[in-house]
Parts: sequence; C-alpha cells; structure tokens
Amino acid sequence: MLDITLDLVGSSRLEWLPDDYENSWTLREAVSRKGIGLHSGIETEVTLLPSLKEGFYVSWKESSQPPVKLNPSLVVHSPLCTTLELGTKKLSTVEHLLAALIGCGLTHAHILVNGNEIPLLDGSSIEWVEAIEQAGINRLNISQKTEFEIKEPLVIYQGLSMISAIPSDKFRLIGIIDFPYSVIGKQMLSLELTPQNFVEEIAPARTFGFKDQIDHLISQGLIKGGNLNNSLVCDENSWLNPPLRFENEPVRHKLLDLIGDLALIGLPKAQVLVYRGSHALHTQFAKAVKQVCSLK
Ligand SMILES: [Zn+2]
Repeated sequence: MLDITLDLVGSSRLEWLPDDYENSWTLREAVSRKGIGLHSGIETEVTLLPSLKEGFYVSWKESSQPPVKLNPSLVVHSPLCTTLELGTKKLSTVEHLLAALIGCGLTHAHILVNGNEIPLLDGSSIEWVEAIEQAGINRLNISQKTEFEIKEPLVIYQGLSMISAIPSDKFRLIGIIDFPYSVIGKQMLSLELTPQNFVEEIAPARTFGFKDQIDHLISQGLIKGGNLNNSLVCDENSWLNPPLRFENEPVRHKLLDLIGDLALIGLPKAQVLVYRGSHALHTQFAKAVKQVCSLK
C-alpha cells in the first residue's frame, strides 16, 4: 500500500489535478473499487460516476430508491465514523471517500454502492485518489458554483473540543490533537488546502486506533474489518505496525476526516481551526456553516 502512495505522490502525476477549488469538476468516466468495510467486515463495491448535478449523490445497485444528494442533516449518531441515513437505507464510513472526492477538487459526482458501508481500503484516502486519477476528471463549464464564504467568526464546541472559522480568501486548515498516549501526544498541522497538497499531505494519512480499546469495540460488534494493514494501532508508548507515512500521521488523518465531513456541504472559504475534532463536531460545524452562509 505504501508503494502506491509513494508512486502517486513522488511523481509528476499530480498534474491531472485542478490548481484550486474555484471551478466545478466531475469524473470523466466510471471507476469501481471493492473492499471490506471497517465495522461490518463485509465486502462492498463502490462505483464512482460522472454527474451533471452539483454535489455528491448516492444510490444503490440493489435498490430502485432514487439518488439522494448528501447533506449534513442525513448524518445519524455514529461515534467512530460518519453514517448517513438515506431514505430506508444507511451508509457508514463515507468520510474517506468523500474527502478524496472533494479534496481532489470534484464538485459533481454520483456514488453507486452495494451494501451499507464504504470499503476502508488502506485506511486512508489515497486509493480513492488513485481511482479518481484512473477515471480522469473533466471541468464543467458552469459559472455559478455554490460558495460557502464565512463573513463573520463562527465557533462550534462540545466540552473542550472546538472548531472555529474566520474569513479567508482561501480554504486554510489548522488541526490540533492532544491524546493521553505518549506515542501521539500533541500534534499540530497548518496548511492552505489545494488539490495538490491534499493529495501529498493529507490523503495518504491512515486511520488509527488504540490497542486497549480494540477488545471493547469488538465486543460492541464494531471494527470487524479492522486489521493491522488498514489501521495504525498504538499502545501507550509505541506503534504496533510502523512505519508511519508521516511523523504526525494522526493529526493529518483527523484533518482528512474533517475534509470528508465538510464534503457534505462543500469546502468553505475560511480559515478553519479544529481542536480535538470528532465526526459529531464536524457535522455540527458543517450544518452551522451552511446555515450562516445561506442566511446572507
Ligand atoms: Zn477517518
């Protein structure tokens, strides 16, 4: 898996990406990936398709239910991943795929799935990026792109966890994490997001977990598809499956999760600072951005 990352990132193959997030893009053709879901442990297949409708739509291979446009109101309670309730069906662990789509600059796409969970693949977004590269992308000649421009400071918090947004001409991100495990500890990353540095700096960062919580999660019927090839696992002092792709891979993955959750509205023009984020907080933030921007 690491070879794919290095091959993708270490070459001039980033040229296919848009320079920024100013325009509308969709896929050139369909592309599919199969894999195991982190929580269900069941193999599912996802096909990404071109679309002329703004936003990301989901429909099922096995259902005639009409495609649903994703938005943050569809998120249901799920502590470890982002789960959407779409009509009569649920779809879990959407965030790494959505991060890849929006991070690469796509604004229009149709996601056709079977099953109820998006495959985890290598635990990061890089294999979805590779799928998008394989399909190719086309710029859409649409002048009106929905923009979420933050005009006033916005703060969302739960306990000591918080996300703030202030006005900015670009999408800038600052992530801070603080874990009581010395191997992770405090980490901070600040960057101006572009499609190219999404692919280089964020997309390869894998999901991570804690050895002392794994038995509990398994007893809850979760992480049936988790293993040392698709999740970084640590104990108090060390990683069980090194090497890391970045020294601060955990904070990069937390920003990946935030980007995936913001894909439910679109990337705002703002400087966003997230301290100890969670999917619940990200979703609340996405709803608040949508609300304040549509009030203007
Ligand atoms: Zn994640």
